[in-house]
Amino acid sequence: MLFCSKLVRELVFEERALQPCCNTHSIAVPSFPFAGGSVDMEAYTRHIAATAQEIQRQNPQVCAGCPDLVPLSHSVCVPELRFAVLSLNHHRHICNCRCVYCDLWKPGQHPRPFAILPAIQSLHDQGALEKNCVVSWGGGESTLLQDFETTGRWLWDHGYFQYVHTNALRHSAWIDQLLASGGGRINISLDSGNAAAYARVKGGDWWDDVMASIKKYFAAAITPEQIDIKYIIFEANNKIADVEQFFQVCRGFGAKKIQLSFNFLEVNTGSVSEHSIAAAAYFMHRAQELELDCELFFVDETLRVRIDAARNNFFA
Ligand code: SF4
Ligand code: SF4
Repeated sequence: MLFCSKLVRELVFEERALQPCCNTHSIAVPSFPFAGGSVDMEAYTRHIAATAQEIQRQNPQVCAGCPDLVPLSHSVCVPELRFAVLSLNHHRHICNCRCVYCDLWKPGQHPRPFAILPAIQSLHDQGALEKNCVVSWGGGESTLLQDFETTGRWLWDHGYFQYVHTNALRHSAWIDQLLASGGGRINISLDSGNAAAYARVKGGDWWDDVMASIKKYFAAAITPEQIDIKYIIFEANNKIADVEQFFQVCRGFGAKKIQLSFNFLEVNTGSVSEHSIAAAAYFMHRAQELELDCELFFVDETLRVRIDAARNNFFA
């Protein structure tokens, strides 16, 4: 028996579908059509039960080859679903940034994001959310949504913790309040340590705006641990000097938590370069020296072994 806990613990809102996960491994993810309004939990539960069966049949169109599948010693019985994590990506293609490693901002035929609050309220009303369910705002850029603040306030009022991924181009006074209340955290993918590198990686001359937003968020937060600053390492920012400047900026803000990632397209195609590996090794070395909490993202065992080898060679 193979199973994945995300099937029963997580729910992702996509532009026109519900899924148990984001498609980070470039494989066939189970998808349930959804275009807004109430979530029919009976129908969704049947869909997940059918998905679990298809996984046992090794249907190549359902989760095949996913590293998150684990063997179970007993047969699968899909329970009444109660989600511990909601991820909101229904606005995937709404973004004011132009990251060179991302296609989401590029023009195309994309449906308008549906109102997310009625869907979340329907889950709440059906008892489909764990009391401590975490709601992760992805995107796209959530602060551009008209219902970002009203939805955020409803979630806060109902005790659901929020984790907001934002590019910080636009400062949100509501995020300040969320941080100050202790009801949420944020994640900012900065990927650079100065204006020139920022423009090269993020596609625009917005460094000063982003610095101003981040400064306000740190001032508003109860603790710096509420703010993750991320660095996605790839060819355009993998010089050691680039990484060092990022650390200087993080120190200036008093950051405590940083994230290291690679471009997931490079991870999925096995094309992360040795330069990027050396930059990652330096990143981890500096994080340790500066006593920053460094989280690895999109770093599988193979990449970790390469990073550790580079760290031993160059920065031991
Ligand atoms: S097995 Fe993989 S693709 Fe399937 S639900 Fe889990 S994480 Fe998603
Ligand atoms: S901020 Fe996120 S969604 Fe927007 S362009 Fe950058 S990576 Fe893509």
